[in-house]
Amino acid sequence: TNANLFAALRAAFPADLDDVAVETDGGLFYSWRDLERATAMIANLLDALKLEPGARIAVQVEKSVEAMLLYLATLRAGYVFLPLNTAYQSAEIEYFIGNAEPAVVVCTSDNANWVGAIAQAAGTRHVFTLDDDRTGSLLDFAAQCSDQHAIAHKAEDDMAAILYTSGTTGRSKGAMLTHRNLLSNAEVLKDYWGWKEGDVLIHALPIFHVHGLFVALHGALLNGSRMLWFGKFEPKRVVAKLPDATVFMGVPTLYVRMLAEPGLTKEAVRNMRLFVAGSAPLLIETFNEWRERTGHTILERYGMSETAMLTSNPYNPVQGERRGGTVGFPLPGVQLRVMSMEEGADGRECTTDEIGAIEVSGPNVFAGYWRMPEKTREEFTHDGFFKTGDVGKIDGLGYVTIVGRSKDLIISGGYNVYPAEIEGYINELPGVAESAVVGVPHSDFGEVGVAIVIAKSGATVDAEAVLATLKTQLANFKIPKRCFVVPELPRNSMGKVQKALLREQHKGLFS
Ligand code: ATP
Ligand code: MG
Repeated sequence: TNANLFAALRAAFPADLDDVAVETDGGLFYSWRDLERATAMIANLLDALKLEPGARIAVQVEKSVEAMLLYLATLRAGYVFLPLNTAYQSAEIEYFIGNAEPAVVVCTSDNANWVGAIAQAAGTRHVFTLDDDRTGSLLDFAAQCSDQHAIAHKAEDDMAAILYTSGTTGRSKGAMLTHRNLLSNAEVLKDYWGWKEGDVLIHALPIFHVHGLFVALHGALLNGSRMLWFGKFEPKRVVAKLPDATVFMGVPTLYVRMLAEPGLTKEAVRNMRLFVAGSAPLLIETFNEWRERTGHTILERYGMSETAMLTSNPYNPVQGERRGGTVGFPLPGVQLRVMSMEEGADGRECTTDEIGAIEVSGPNVFAGYWRMPEKTREEFTHDGFFKTGDVGKIDGLGYVTIVGRSKDLIISGGYNVYPAEIEGYINELPGVAESAVVGVPHSDFGEVGVAIVIAKSGATVDAEAVLATLKTQLANFKIPKRCFVVPELPRNSMGKVQKALLREQHKGLFS
């Protein structure tokens, strides 16, 4: 049998290919037949280039249905899809293209000059353009190709995509994902989240990242479900479409922005079945406010570029309630363990509620970092578990909670301080919207915490008062040594707080 992920997605197309597969916010309708034909044509174009097996197709374009079709066509033709964040500029693109050495680069016509030059310097032979208005040389050439294409034969362990991590903790690494990694995860989620006939997904996430490209897209396709497609997330327009949908997936900031829309009511979500959040921690306040406003409990899940999805809160109430602040249970097929981070712990698994390093294994775990054999070796244990770099705990019922990243851990005077714990207390204070605690060098303690606090709109927060209150609540070694109230936290395009940037900003405070 053919382990090509596209073969499984194609097999899930509904019997009537004239049904609508995608409806865009621009008022365009794509049938399943359109998807079948367009992916065949683009796949034939790629085949005509006579690329080597395993050739990378690097793509930095605005979100569009055609960009999605290019992804599917790359799978179909058996090459490796390599999406790049549209925010990346020349220094970043130079790194990614130099590192990945793609055979084909697809970029916007606006960027064609400088991206083309970088690609050429890296030895890329083919550069195409693709714009979000259905124009560009890629489509011009594909239009000349046949709309019949036999799906390339792939083995389970063949590479399907390289996803560069978000670069939250350092330079992005290319995670090599196989056809089996992606398909196994999509199949598990289809079942776990109860995808069913008649489901309609609102797709409002970028497609250069695991959340929008894999979790959302594979979810809808593997279920033969229609997508309501948004090129950009515009809260008012998305909220207006909720009555036509049953499933929505978003990063936490999307939920926060939708809550600011008066149109978000119980009436608007009357047909919705499931709201999924992930990619960054969902504040408990957002979780609670969403439930009050809509009557729906957001299902939070946890995953990463290297592994796709790892844990999920239960969909089915029989399995348990959806607990805010937790990321739920390990998904079927995923082994997840928390290992002690104490010095000399030497591979001891944590007890219930004890905080430690999260390690995972399963059919979804990637094949390694692209051209980083050393790093790959370092990040896997001798018994084959991947060290996620996240720190967390498992409670008596099996719910997993993420308390931060090992790189964000603060070691102050020899004690471990978990930023998420301190942030939790700060966020409870009156007038506080959110906060970030980061460690900075200190001559006596090695490291100390600094709190960055955002006030709710219209509220004022006094930095000294924050610290004074914390002193009545927490042990002294956990108290940040300084507090700043600022207008907003630096976030990347997935809504992740960029703690490395905050550390950099404040590194000179005590040394
Ligand atoms: P880099 O690895 O380059 O530093 P990154 O880890 O942010 O960047 P991604 O693979 O996009 O790159 O993100 C995965 C990370 O996102 C996880 O390791 C975890 O820290 C965080 N994450 C994902 N979902 C959740 C969640 N529900 N709650 C808390 N954190 C989450
Ligand atoms: Mg990471």
